[in-house]
Amino acid sequence: MNTRNSHRARAIVLHTLDYGESDRIATFYTREFGKLKGIAKGARRSRRRFANSLEPFSFTQVLFSRRGGGDSLAMVDQCEIIDHFPMIRSDLEKSVAASYLVELTGAFTVEGKRNEAVFQLLVDFLSLMENGPFRTGLLSFFEIRLLGLAGYEPILDRCSRCHVPLDAGRTFHFSNSRGGLQCSRCVSVPEAAPALSLGTIRSLLHGKALPARNLSRLLLSPRADDESRRLLVSFIRHILGRELKSWQVLRQLRQLDAINVDTC
Ligand SMILES: [Zn+2]
Repeated sequence: MNTRNSHRARAIVLHTLDYGESDRIATFYTREFGKLKGIAKGARRSRRRFANSLEPFSFTQVLFSRRGGGDSLAMVDQCEIIDHFPMIRSDLEKSVAASYLVELTGAFTVEGKRNEAVFQLLVDFLSLMENGPFRTGLLSFFEIRLLGLAGYEPILDRCSRCHVPLDAGRTFHFSNSRGGLQCSRCVSVPEAAPALSLGTIRSLLHGKALPARNLSRLLLSPRADDESRRLLVSFIRHILGRELKSWQVLRQLRQLDAINVDTC
């Protein structure tokens, strides 16, 4: 059987790789098919069929064909830009942050498994970054939602051992191995993870539950921002067993910014 089926999908480009003289291999997160990898023949020569659509975090409509279903490599025939996110691309910090969102999505998803909520999450957060200022809180809210969609939702509304609620008058620590909070009575090695402020925990719960369009109005205190980043970066590194490249670049960029501000 050598028949190829043609498909059309809305997609965010997660990753691209130049291949041979003129081809490009791209990984997409599509609304209709989940994560999809395809080869675009002549992509680096044909502006008519691909324009500049095959770039990380572009929002495109992709036409492709493949044999059967599942996770075989697709042949990408054409890509049309829906949104190139020009305001993100003109800002270095936003560009690196958007690269982080797509790299993280790639790391937490498998090919051939459709999850429309993951696609919508990417579209919503890229739109928030395109239309508003960049805040690190957005990364935390994205991460906590993606973790939930990928089956790693951290337990933040109670102690993961004895189930006491947040208002029980105890302090809470986050445990990567338990994937959730432990109260001061259950935690075995208190110095391993510092106690979190209740404000941080409540901000994360709030940031997870709010409709995405309202997130640009949710401001984290410096302490909640800092504690959220530490908790989520450490938990994600624990799950993936590595730190993502784009996160390393973003962190270096922010350290550089801090030095420049200090020396001005
Ligand atoms: Zn407990």
